[in-house]
Formats: sequence, structure tokens, C-alpha cells
Amino acid sequence: MHADADAQALHLLQTVFGYPEFRGQQAQIVGHLARGGDALVLMPTGGGKSLCYQIPSLVRDGVGVVISPLIALMQDQVDALAEVGVRAAFLNSTQSFDEAMRIERQVRRGELDLVYVAPERLMTSRCLDLLESARIALFAIDEAHCVSQWGHDFRPEYIKLSILHERFPNVPRIALTATADAQTRAEIVQRLQLEEALQFVSSFDRPNIRYQIVEKANARQQLLDFINGEHAGDAGIVYCLSRKKVEEVADFLNSHGIAALPYHAGIDNVSRAANQARFLREDGIVMVATIAFGMGIDKPDVRFVAHLDLPKSMEGYYQETGRAGRDGLPADAWMAYGLQDVVQQRRMIDESEANDAYKRIQSQKLDAMLGLCETLHCRRVRLLDYFGQASGPCGNCDICSSPPVSFDGTVPMQKLLSTIYRVEQRFGAMHVLDVLRGVESDKVKQWGHDRLSVFGIGADRADQEWRAILRQAIALGLVTVDHEAYSALKLTEDARPVLRGEKTIQLRQYEKPARQKRKTAASKHVELGLTGEEQAIFEKLRWWRMEAARRHNVPAYVIFHDATLREIAKAKPHSLEDMRAISGVGEKKLETYGDEIVALIVSD
Ligand code: ADP
Ligand code: ZN
Repeated sequence: MHADADAQALHLLQTVFGYPEFRGQQAQIVGHLARGGDALVLMPTGGGKSLCYQIPSLVRDGVGVVISPLIALMQDQVDALAEVGVRAAFLNSTQSFDEAMRIERQVRRGELDLVYVAPERLMTSRCLDLLESARIALFAIDEAHCVSQWGHDFRPEYIKLSILHERFPNVPRIALTATADAQTRAEIVQRLQLEEALQFVSSFDRPNIRYQIVEKANARQQLLDFINGEHAGDAGIVYCLSRKKVEEVADFLNSHGIAALPYHAGIDNVSRAANQARFLREDGIVMVATIAFGMGIDKPDVRFVAHLDLPKSMEGYYQETGRAGRDGLPADAWMAYGLQDVVQQRRMIDESEANDAYKRIQSQKLDAMLGLCETLHCRRVRLLDYFGQASGPCGNCDICSSPPVSFDGTVPMQKLLSTIYRVEQRFGAMHVLDVLRGVESDKVKQWGHDRLSVFGIGADRADQEWRAILRQAIALGLVTVDHEAYSALKLTEDARPVLRGEKTIQLRQYEKPARQKRKTAASKHVELGLTGEEQAIFEKLRWWRMEAARRHNVPAYVIFHDATLREIAKAKPHSLEDMRAISGVGEKKLETYGDEIVALIVSD
């Protein structure tokens, strides 16, 4: 079997999944697993992790056991596999006892190719006994970063998964994650006893995602302009920090004619699941959510991810934005960011109950995130560099397409720093900027700050410009915000050389946020690489798909991805043979849908 495991794997890829070839490291990973090896796979979201365990499960004898914390998504995963003719089922707390018994029987009799199991379920002695009585092809531990106690997805049950190695020493294991940092990787290896596993680390670049970070002015309006301008009718995710803001933004979008749904931990389970199901199943829904939403959401046609609040870390940002464009078609990662974000995130760290070591790590992570926001160079270079990957300017981020103007900001920075110093480091941003700009507010007069030498030395710049400079001062670590003292601005040691004129500072020229231009229908299909005629077929296919999805009671993308519809619109297949050649069309789907599609094309 060993010699031809590779040939068998490729054959399954083509006939079952309908893809002509493996992507990136898939072929090596699949081959290694099929031959009984252990693997640790780090691949960005959308990289194609699922096939890395699905195909070896088909190649090897027995059932592939997939451990996943994402109970709510198991049904869709199983449905998607059924669509391509793979025998899959799940065991979790959402099903009845009878249903679970039926699945267990199938596992015991070897009637399944794959079974998805929640980790807490797996740990029960009933389940472990079941697995001992069955033939197991492999264990796949999905979302493996959940073992990491430092990460925000920590699941205590994951730690116990080392038991698999002890009880089933001969069954190959594959752990998968999209979280890239070395610390998490080391934790996975240690806790899951994967010291012997081969590590497969893919490039973390997602070239089809365009990164864009704009100055926050009126964030909701900016978001609305962005959606109307570039993503009318598209599915997207909008991340906000608080539940309250999630609700407000969802209401705001709805009142402006955009179908938006809220998602956060304060919404009851039933409505939350219903909102998630609508997002997955219907076309063009915008999900407004806290970071509670998204792990394991493998909806391939999310066209944009927007952030209205600053994420806590590059890891979080990359994971969240990674949910856009999994189908490889163009997608946007858009963020509005302002001074208040910096202040708020710093405060959250300062006020948290955590110990100093943890706070220090959080603070370093935030600094890296601020660096990305304030950078004068390619965003992608910065992101990939953070994950240890060198690259050159990408041509597909806001900075590459319109490089910001930088200027020698030493003098304005000195003005800002001296004002903070002159008001004795006891006042917050608003007051400091009032003094700097020479605003005779009551507070300024009350403290006699209109008599300071610095009063009005910054009258030449608008409030927004000074806010941008202050933000950069904080990002550069020259100024901190003291939350124990009414958010007073304080100078750090690093401010001294700047004040003394020993160090110059490059700043980003402030630019008024420009209104987003509305994209025409024409430019949209140019983006997909379709002619006008092909675009018309594509739209027809989408209608057909919506109907088919309703009939089969599955999400539209489970029938065919946009990318496959696009291929069909270009190739215009007139026979089942033509159809077979299209990427994303396997034997089962050809049998189920082939005639309908050909009829639709021929009648056109
Ligand atoms: P991940 O779990 O890494 O986020 P998925 O396994 O969901 O990614 O795969 C992302 C998308 O890429 C899916 O829609 C999948 O069908 C598609 N895909 C995976 N491998 C291939 C391949 N070899 N050829 C074409 N498409 C692929
Ligand atoms: Zn770039």
C-alpha cells in the first residue's frame, strides 16, 4: 500500500473533491499521514487544512476521528462531506441518545470514513472504549492552539488530549492550527506529546486579502461608506469590542438597508445559533460580532472583515481578518483606528487582574499591533515579519497603493511633549491638546494654563492632526496614559532625548479620511476576471445554487463555491465530460448537479 498511497491520495482528491492538484504542502502532509506518521500543521486560515486529514482518513483503513471544539459547525461539515459522497457523522451533546447510539454502532462496524467528536465527549470512558473497539485511521486535532493557556481560545479539555497518544500509540495523529507564533507551537508539541511529529509550516501570506487601515473619524459612517462602496450585497464580518457596540452597529447598518445580524456572548444560545446559521446559509449577510464569533467558520465567500475597534494582538488580527476570502478570490481586511482605541486598549491591560508577567506580554502584543497601524511601509511585510517570514512590498495594501507622506515631526513632537510636561503630567488628552492649541476652555483658565509658555504653541494644527501625533507618540512609546490618575498623559524615559533635540522623529502626515468611492457593477466583475456575458451566467448560477441549497437544506457554498461557479461561467460546459474538468466538481457532485448545470448553460 505504501508505494502507491500518494497515487491513491491524488486520485481521491480528483474524483471525490474534484480538485486537479494538491496545494502547497498538502501532498507531503497527506502522504506522511497515510504512511502512519504524526504531523503538526501550521497553515493560515483558508490554506486547506481539512483535506490534510480527510484524504488520509479515506486512504487508511478505519475511521478518521476529528476532535473539534466547534460543535455548532459539525452539522455543516458533515453535510459538506455527504455532498461529495464521504460517509461522515458527529458525536456531541446536541444529539439525542438514540442518534448517538446509531452513530456509535456505525463506528464499531466500520461504516464511517470520518467521525467528528467534541473533546469533552472524547474524554468520556464510553467514547474511549468505543474507539478501542473500532478500527481507527487517524486522530485529527483541529484548532490545536486551544491547548495554549496564553491564547484566548484556551480549552481545558484540550490538555487532556495527550491521553490519545498513551491509549492509542499506533494511531497516527495530526494537530492543526492557524495560529502561527513559536510559543503556541511549542506548547502544542509539549502538551500533545508530538515531539516525534513532522512539522509543516506554510507561508502565512494570504495574497488575495487587501489590508487597509484608515483614520477613525465617524467610524460607523466610514464603515457604511466602505460597505456600500466596495461590498454591496457581499457577506462580511464586522468586529467590535463590546456587546453594546455590536448591537448599535447592527441596528445602524440595518437602518441603512444592509442585512446585518448581531453576535455576542450575551445573546441567548438559540438566537445566536440562528444568526450564525443565517450568516452561513444566506447570501450577503453582514455579521456584526465580538471576537466570540468566527473560530472554525469555514464559509469560503466572506468578502470582507472590518474592525471598528483595535484588536489586542497581531495574532488576533490575523486570525480574524483571515476569515475573509478563503475561496482565494479578492477580499478586504478593513479597519478604522483612532486615538481612543489606543487609550482604551492600554487601560484594559492596566486594569486587568492578571499578573505583571502576563500584562507585559499583552503590552508587547499591543505595541506590535500599534506598529502595524502606524507603519509607513507595506502592511503585509510588517504582518509576515511578525510571524517570522520575510517578504517584499505587496502591492495589495493601502500603503503600497498610496504611500503615506512622512515628515520630520521632531518639532511638533517636542511641542506636544513639553505641553504634557508643563501641565505636570496630570491631565488627559483633551486638556493637553486644548492648552497646546490655545483653546481658552473653563478648565484651562481655572488652572491658569493659559499663562503657560506652551499655551497656543500648536495653534497651527487642527485638533485631528494633534490627535494623530499624540497617537503616534503613544505608539512610539514616548507617552503613556496613566489610568490610575484620570487617564493623565505621562512622559516615558524615551521622551527625554526627543525633548533635548538628540533624536529626530518621523511622523505620518495626517490625511482627512476620504469618502470611499462607489464601485460600479462593471468593476466588480472585472475583479472576478469575467466578461459581461460571463458575469450574467455567474449570476444565473448563483440563483440556481440558492435554490439547490434550499432543496438540500445546506449552505449555498456546500453545493459549489463561488470560485467553482466562476470557472463554470468561464468554461460554459456543454457536456458532463466538460463539467468534470472543472475544479471543485467531483464525481458525486457531477452526478447530482451535472445535468442541471449543463441544461442551464445550453439553454443560455
Ligand atoms: P482551512 O481549514 O485551512 O481554513 P479549508 O480546509 O476550509 O481551509 O480549505 C479552504 C478552501 O480551500 C476550501 O474551500 C477548500 O475546498 C479549498 N481547497 C483546499 N484544498 C484545495 C485544493 N487542493 N485545490 C483547490 N481547492 C482547495
Ligand atoms: Zn503592501
